[in-house]
Amino acid sequence: MERVKRLRPANAPFEVVFEGTGSLSGRARVGRVFGAHSQATSQTPAPLLLSLRGAFPNLPAALVPRCGVAGENSALVQIPMLDFIVLNAQTGFSGVDLVNALENKPLHAIADATRGAVLFLSLKAAGSDDFADGGPGGGRSNAVGGDGRGGARRVKLTPAEVLKLQRALQCDFFEAPSEQAVFYMSDNVADRSVVKTASMLQELVDAAAVDPSLQLLGSIQGGFELARRRTAAEDVAKHESHLSGYVVSGMNGGETLENRIKCLAECVTAISSPRLLRVCGGTGSPSEVLESIAKGMDVIESSYPFESANSALALRLSSSRHKMDLRDTKYRLDRRVLVPGCPCEACSGYSRAYIHHLINVHEILGTSLLAIHNLYDYWLFFEQIRCSILQDRFLRFRQEFYDAMDAQACAEDGGSDTEGNG
Ligand SMILES: [Zn+2]
Repeated sequence: MERVKRLRPANAPFEVVFEGTGSLSGRARVGRVFGAHSQATSQTPAPLLLSLRGAFPNLPAALVPRCGVAGENSALVQIPMLDFIVLNAQTGFSGVDLVNALENKPLHAIADATRGAVLFLSLKAAGSDDFADGGPGGGRSNAVGGDGRGGARRVKLTPAEVLKLQRALQCDFFEAPSEQAVFYMSDNVADRSVVKTASMLQELVDAAAVDPSLQLLGSIQGGFELARRRTAAEDVAKHESHLSGYVVSGMNGGETLENRIKCLAECVTAISSPRLLRVCGGTGSPSEVLESIAKGMDVIESSYPFESANSALALRLSSSRHKMDLRDTKYRLDRRVLVPGCPCEACSGYSRAYIHHLINVHEILGTSLLAIHNLYDYWLFFEQIRCSILQDRFLRFRQEFYDAMDAQACAEDGGSDTEGNG
């Protein structure tokens, strides 16, 4: 394959706006990302919200709250390419048929909830001993796809086909295909994830050499052994001039916070170029968010607002650093709005008693209302984080957040009701 030097877009897809002092803000920084296709922009640190084919769980597109409070921030939405491959398996298309069917149909045109968002396309295969493929470096090194559940199957896509899918969907950022090794997987799987991910990135860089609109993110896999992560990060660093950033992947919850922090520190040390956007996997819990940002991450994958809504929780991260469990019978006759003072649509028209009732009778509207509020509150939480970095007081913000969370937990243990205060 002919190698042509890849041109960088005239405008860099990411820029650092402010970096704090180490002793006051750790490695936290504020930046901006620019969508190559959507033309949308967003400030970082920001959450990368996980979607199912571009839609948020239990949140119809028309009800998605306006993003953030600063006005110009667009949502960052992750589009897992695996969703399309699952769809592919169910409809009987082969990998290439689906790519052809989607050609000239950008995702903005077919997935309503993603309008105006900065889109990140990712293609992660779950690593498994069932897919040995002849061991590390084995012949089918770029076979990607599902793990056998839910009708998914493993599909072999060539780099040219992967790029064709990216071009058809026109997402703004594109995470290079990778093989995941999460915390419970064996050393063999983790070793192989590094080798296969490096091989797929090399093939993709070779194939993508002439495409300046591809804002490519390298994927760093390798589980939680620091030496292995370092190797994986160095593999990605070799292609730095072709990349807009990188994703520290395989962090989908379950690992310890200490493991996460060490891995992120290792990766940022191995690839320290300030122009690269740093993304990390995760569930987006408050402590994950705060610790990842302290280590220099710009974007954190998250399903937290939606998972919380599914568990009947209303977040109050931006105010009392607290959450309310709407299943609790103490809300049965509580006529107050969900969170007084919150301008979101759920809080302006619905009482706690009503939402408690909806949750009790398993009416999906209850979860949708909580998702609206949680997403708004979560964006506000990130807005507060960005403000604290710009004021060079992020580490103090983090400590105050933890202190407030502890105080709320103590108040709950003591049986006092603090919900009416915020
Ligand atoms: Zn609200």
